[in-house]
Amino acid sequence: MTTKVPFIDLTRFEPEFLSAWQERVVQLSSAAQYIGGPWLNAVEDALTAATDAKFVVTCANGTDALQLALRAAGITPGDIVLIPDLTFWATFEAVINVGASPYVVDCDAHDLAIDVDRVGRLINTVRPAAVIVVHLYGWGSEALSILRHLCRAAGIPLIEDAAQAFGVRYEGKPVFAEAQIATTSFYPAKVLGAAGDGGAVFCQDAGMAERIRCLSNHGRTGHYQHEAVGWNSRLDSLQAAYLELSLLHINARLASRRKIAKRYRDHLLAWEPDLVAVGPPDAYEENGYCNVCLVGDSALKQAIEARLQLTGIEFARIYPAPISAQPGAKALCAGHSGGRVASRVCESVLNLPLFAYMTESEVDLVTATVGRAIEQHRQTRSNGSG
Ligand SMILES: *Cc1c(COP(=O)(O)O)cnc(C)c1O
Repeated sequence: MTTKVPFIDLTRFEPEFLSAWQERVVQLSSAAQYIGGPWLNAVEDALTAATDAKFVVTCANGTDALQLALRAAGITPGDIVLIPDLTFWATFEAVINVGASPYVVDCDAHDLAIDVDRVGRLINTVRPAAVIVVHLYGWGSEALSILRHLCRAAGIPLIEDAAQAFGVRYEGKPVFAEAQIATTSFYPAKVLGAAGDGGAVFCQDAGMAERIRCLSNHGRTGHYQHEAVGWNSRLDSLQAAYLELSLLHINARLASRRKIAKRYRDHLLAWEPDLVAVGPPDAYEENGYCNVCLVGDSALKQAIEARLQLTGIEFARIYPAPISAQPGAKALCAGHSGGRVASRVCESVLNLPLFAYMTESEVDLVTATVGRAIEQHRQTRSNGSG
């Protein structure tokens, strides 16, 4: 089967992009400027401007960004950290890797983010040292301001894993603008992707930013002076140059994704009320960077998937299982609150292709294919019951 619509295509560059990138590669290579240098400062400035965060420290990847955030926030071995059951495995790993214990919390059925009511109760009973909220799919928790307030009132850091949320705006501001500590990933398939791995930590406090930078560079306070045991988690200069160039186009890329997300939502909701095309909660602007369909009827889901496959349209299931069901999680979870909502989401989730500069005809082929599958499923059902 030839692929007619890929799940993601990272080669849809803007017309001038590759020649500009080539120029930067030659410039950096001829100077052998691979670590540090002007592009690093330039990209951190551009990230600050794009997110309205006070401080930005780039690092090697999104998982390191979480570990740097946890370490800089004072999380130490034995501490309990609340994390959502519905997230990428790295959220769990980061907590383990700093020696702390993840306590897994169910998600909310409406916005698919960590269940804030449960967090409120667990703050008083489990007494976590920190909470990680994950802004999945291109939006975040509807109750984010309540969650921020809960953590502030309890005097514990709230770390916002925004690996999938670059460009997301909450209550009219970039989601990074008012996060105490937020992290992102520049893995190539993320909204803002590098030409390899990369990540960043965003915060509002100068001392915190300094600790993060120190930990990400061997605990350095001077070239051969080390105040802490950190590790090497620097973003290299080529990644910085690529990201700085990509940031010049980020608004066009976001606009393209938003347009496609809206097209999906309009079509899917019009067809089948059972097929819920989940979009951002009201507190978020149009930010559907990832298409999320929740298809509760498993026969319908199978019919849609079969039809997509037959037509050559790639799709995904983000995520097929909650964290608590991962074989590697069992022995390491400090606890687990709820879990039925996350399991149900994982069973019913279907993600359709959505990437910047996907063409209208590609989107139309996807929506028409899903439409045909729904129609056929309806007919089979009415024939069966008649
Ligand atoms: C991608 C991702 C990460 C990890 O980022 P890497 O750069 O791959 O280390 C962490 N959390 C979430 C939610 C992610 O999607």
